[in-house]
Amino acid sequence: MSTTKRSDAIGPLARLHHALMPDYNPRATAFWWSAIVGGAAVLAVALAALSGQAWTAWLQTAAAMLLALLAGLFPMRVPRSKNSFVAGEIFIFLLLLVQGPAAATVAAAGEAFVASCRTSKRWTSRLVSPAIASISMTVAGTGLSWVLASLQAVGRDDAATLLACAMAFSALYFLLTALGVSGVPRLKRGEPFFQIASLLSVFRWVGIAFAGSASMASLLFVAYRQSGASVLMVMLPLVGMLLVTLHFYFRQQEAAESARDVNAEMVAREAAMSARATAVAEQHLRELQASEQRFHAAFTHASIGMALMAFDGRLLQVNPAMCALLGADPQALLASRIQALVVEDDQPLLSTQLGLAAEDDFEGFHCELRCHHRDGSVVWLDVHCGFFTEPGASLPCLILQAQNVTARRAAEDGLQHLAFHDSLTGLANRRRFLECLTGAVERARVEHAHTYSVMFLDFDRFKLVNDSLGHNAGDELLIQMARRIQENLRPGDIVARLGGDEFAVLIERAERERDTIVLAERLMEALKRPFQLGAIEIVASASIGITFSAFGYESAEEVLRDADTAMYRAKAQGRAGYALFDTALHTAVSDRLRLEGELRQAIDHRQLTVAYQPLFDLVKGRLIGFEALVRWNHPVHGMLDPMAFLPMAEETGLMLQLSDFVLHCACQQLRQWQISSPAHGALTMSVNVSANDLSNPAFVAQVGRALVEAHLSPAHLTLELTENILMSSIVGARDTLDRLRDLGVQLAVDDFGTGYSSLSQLARLPINSLKIDRSFIGQLRSGPNEMAVVQAIIELGRTLQKTVVAEGIESADQMSMLRDMGCVQGQGFHLATPMTAQAVGDLLRDGTHLH
Ligand code: C2E
Ligand code: CA
Ligand code: CA
Repeated sequence: MSTTKRSDAIGPLARLHHALMPDYNPRATAFWWSAIVGGAAVLAVALAALSGQAWTAWLQTAAAMLLALLAGLFPMRVPRSKNSFVAGEIFIFLLLLVQGPAAATVAAAGEAFVASCRTSKRWTSRLVSPAIASISMTVAGTGLSWVLASLQAVGRDDAATLLACAMAFSALYFLLTALGVSGVPRLKRGEPFFQIASLLSVFRWVGIAFAGSASMASLLFVAYRQSGASVLMVMLPLVGMLLVTLHFYFRQQEAAESARDVNAEMVAREAAMSARATAVAEQHLRELQASEQRFHAAFTHASIGMALMAFDGRLLQVNPAMCALLGADPQALLASRIQALVVEDDQPLLSTQLGLAAEDDFEGFHCELRCHHRDGSVVWLDVHCGFFTEPGASLPCLILQAQNVTARRAAEDGLQHLAFHDSLTGLANRRRFLECLTGAVERARVEHAHTYSVMFLDFDRFKLVNDSLGHNAGDELLIQMARRIQENLRPGDIVARLGGDEFAVLIERAERERDTIVLAERLMEALKRPFQLGAIEIVASASIGITFSAFGYESAEEVLRDADTAMYRAKAQGRAGYALFDTALHTAVSDRLRLEGELRQAIDHRQLTVAYQPLFDLVKGRLIGFEALVRWNHPVHGMLDPMAFLPMAEETGLMLQLSDFVLHCACQQLRQWQISSPAHGALTMSVNVSANDLSNPAFVAQVGRALVEAHLSPAHLTLELTENILMSSIVGARDTLDRLRDLGVQLAVDDFGTGYSSLSQLARLPINSLKIDRSFIGQLRSGPNEMAVVQAIIELGRTLQKTVVAEGIESADQMSMLRDMGCVQGQGFHLATPMTAQAVGDLLRDGTHLH
């Protein structure tokens, strides 16, 4: 607000001043304006004076001005000084002498204007320079003209006087011009207008040059006065040439001077540099020594092993950590090559790497090597190797850095082993086996001469052992089985545990199929030998499926799948055997798989039924009970016998549901018959128990529930266990048997005579009856041996106070023989075949006595 007010008060002139001359203080402004006004005035006067003159005067004025300007293009710079001399004044002075101050003033103003336009962009400077020139020339020129006129009047205008006067007034002209031009910036800076010292410093020899110009002009004027204008025509170009020559001479001088300066500077710099270089070299040497000391300290005290080594592997220097890594003393290491320290298997790797060190672009290497420790162990070293030039040494060598990574490698190897091996048996696992098999399949595809065969082993009834003896016993059995398989293979064969009790063997270079079959037979024989699990002896067997590379497999999975298929055929063919894969097997196996699914559904959908085979008292000829026998009424295949699906039910775990079903049916059925025919209230029911049932912890409760739900007295239920089941699972079964007896049910040994019952064990078991296997009954007539066996069993039963039952009685002969030998109970087609519940109902109604 206040600023606006003040600028309003100052008015437009001040605003113009502010815009154009912001850096001009009042004194400088006053001087500037004085110079401009004065200059304009004298120039106007000069022009007025000139206007009355002839045109030659104008022409000469213009020529002088032009020449002065031309001369301005060739300034003579004084070497080693900032001053330059422009010889244009010669022509202005000449004009002054010839034409008088008016023409000289106009020419000086014009020359100054053009020159200042070249050097300055500001109009204040472009205007003040010609103004000052006009004033100076008017003053000096008028003075000179007046003096010369006065001298002429007294007859003293000789050349020498003229020369002296011209020099004096030229000096005045220069002084005035210099004072005016340098006065403006001095006033702007607030310095005094007159400054003798600075004036003198400018004046020095430029003033002399001005005087020289003036004297030159005087000489030309004298010549002109005597000889006329023509002499100027000759001399002016000469003067011009002289000025141009001088200009270039000075330029050259200047260049030479500066070159000398540059040289001198370079020499000086070089000297300085060499001095510095010496200092730097000394410094460098000190640093090198220091770094060498540092290196040696670092080398010696490093916690990682370090060594300097020649390209051929000779150790040149070793640090204590390196000695510690290898358990060796330095002398022993320095006397050896690194190759000798590395274990044989890793030497090719080391040689390759060392070989690369001789190459131009070698940048070092990094690898892990196994080395001999002096204590005989092997240490894994992580080795870094690079070039090394020791200060002062002429030849480069290699520097090794080594760290002990044995623990890490051991952990990695452990992990690797875990990833590819079965933790229980130590054999390869499925993953590793598939990897090896993939390799074999690939090789056989590329090269047909490369053959292989694969065996798939599955132990028969392994689940039984596992369930009845516990997992620890199962694990121990697997370990022993694995060992036995491995003992019977060739070193190159690969055996793996695929999971559970499944094993696989890859036999490479199996030229003849026969060799693999021989091997399979050998394996089966070996596996049949009893296994000792603590105090218990277990007899096991394996089923083996075999396939060959001749089928042209594309993947490992295909090979394994077909070997597995063949194994199922071996099982189906009665176990403890081997089967070879053929393409027809595919169908068989898929049938089996389908049946398995169907059985699952059959149990759910009540497609299973129970047949009842009557049991008789042979002496009294009276019906005493039944044996429940499961049947599968298959929607497509019709009524299926148990042997067609029971093994499958056992393998797949469906047995538990199946037993539960039969147990309930049988108990319910018997209870119904007891109720409907009270005369038969003493009838019993025999139910077959599988190995799976006996090892099932819930089995006793399951039996109890069936009895309770049917309201049947336990004494009327007999559970039949085969002799093999009873003996092989005796440890786990003993408790179950006791609990079953406590429950009040009867226990029978089924298929008696086919197993290896130890008589002492048999005596101690809570068994009520022995059921002689039907194979003995069928052969009763064929010879005295068979009769003796049956007789012995009957005697045994009598001794042990157990009821003896004969099954499979197919003829009247057999029945009477058995009766004669003292066998009290019997069952067989001759007496009655297994029949439906309804048929039994009819039988009970119609009469149950044997005829
Ligand atoms: P097993 O316990 O020895 O049953 C007797 C088998 O002998 C029955 O065969 C029966 O039909 C047959 N048989 C009866 N009399 C004669 C005869 O005079 N001559 C001949 N050659 N055979 C006769 P099936 O019904 O085929 O049963 C076979 C086996 O299946 C049974 O043998 C038994 O071990 C098992 N089984 C049957 N039903 C069940 C069941 O519900 N549960 C369990 N765990 N096993 C069962
Ligand atoms: Ca039976
Ligand atoms: Ca039997």
